[in-house]
Amino acid sequence: MTRSITILGATGSIGASTLDLIRRNRDLWQVEALTANCSAKELAKLAREFNAKIAVVGDESCLDELREALAGSDVEAAGGEAALCEAAARPADFTVAAIVGCAGLRPVMSAIERGGILALANKEALVSAGDVMTAAIRKHEVCLLPTDSEHNAIFQSLGANNLTDVSRITLTASGGPFRTWTQEQLEAATPEQAVAHPNWDMGAKISVDSATMMNKGLELIEAHYMFPVGLDRIQIVVHPQSVVHSMVEFRDRSTLAQLGPSDMRVPIASCLAWPHRMDTPLEPLNLAEIGELSFFEPDEERFPATRLARNALNSGNGAPAVLNAANEVAVAAFLAGQIGFTRIAAVAEEMLLRYSAQQPSTLEDVLAIDADVRIRTAEVLENYAVV
Ligand code: NDP
Repeated sequence: MTRSITILGATGSIGASTLDLIRRNRDLWQVEALTANCSAKELAKLAREFNAKIAVVGDESCLDELREALAGSDVEAAGGEAALCEAAARPADFTVAAIVGCAGLRPVMSAIERGGILALANKEALVSAGDVMTAAIRKHEVCLLPTDSEHNAIFQSLGANNLTDVSRITLTASGGPFRTWTQEQLEAATPEQAVAHPNWDMGAKISVDSATMMNKGLELIEAHYMFPVGLDRIQIVVHPQSVVHSMVEFRDRSTLAQLGPSDMRVPIASCLAWPHRMDTPLEPLNLAEIGELSFFEPDEERFPATRLARNALNSGNGAPAVLNAANEVAVAAFLAGQIGFTRIAAVAEEMLLRYSAQQPSTLEDVLAIDADVRIRTAEVLENYAVV
């Protein structure tokens, strides 16, 4: 049976992995909408290849380029944030949410309001709008499939068990490229070093988040909303080999884990085929070759981001949205060479201390916090300039 699919963020790393799997199963999928921000030529190429009904660029100034690249095809072209939301709201059985950052929130909410299956990679949207988004998911009876590898591992390990039987969820973290670096080395870390993740091939923003461990902080918040067992029952353990993608311990002390190659096509395939399984082009896991799996406590002195995330969740009142927005701005500044690596978490911490928000109860409340924190973080950043 053919299913229709929309991919928000089709030109990114998750988008490419998803389309790679769809390319291998063309007869099973009909592509409805593909979106990007401004990679117009790349988007047009994908839209032509997959016979998409519509291609949308979030940045309206890139629409002419998209139209030109789609000339002579049947693919409709559109641009701007409203067009992204309209594309997300078009009838489709399955949506992959893979825009990076809180920029994905409005389109994701449009997809949720439409209903169907939502494979969520865009963790920043859930982190910023946790209660608002989960309420909308319940209201519109959306089937949420976690695509982030850790959350997908938890989802698979939970199986048909009740959350009330869970005694602990363990999120594994690779520790990133700087896991063994001293504080002094961290101070001098460059963007090129930060995006060179030892195990995963990902977009620039999430690669920097992995290096600061903010990725794990955001995932802690994501796990709290997806699997509400209580924050004290969610722990983080550093596992440099990235073979065990996360685990669930039950009250009888059985622990179930999901293992696999560190390739996002594994969790994406589990979502695309759910509740069944599908083939992937990956090699079988060779544990004898891997030899050793090791686990360590996280070091929150050198990598304070997970502590900040826990504090943000505990303080509520929109603090996760504050943390996310401040981090997005700080990461962009780091990638642009404007601030040093260790300043990313410092800026996020400063914004959490300075900014007091009200508990957001609507999407507009969340977006207002996000927009405001971005402006204020940019002001704070001036104090941290490299030169
Ligand atoms: P990439 O940077 O590779 O891709 C991001 C995608 O979002 C691109 O299609 C990009 O378009 C689009 N985009 C960026 N900004 C905007 C905007 N303002 N409006 C509309 N579209 C936009 O990111 P990843 O694929 O690495 O990550 C996507 C999401 O998935 C993130 O939330 C990340 O945390 C999460 N994730 C990623 C994993 C990975 O392995 N990559 C693993 C687990 C989760 P354009 O090409 O035009 O810039």
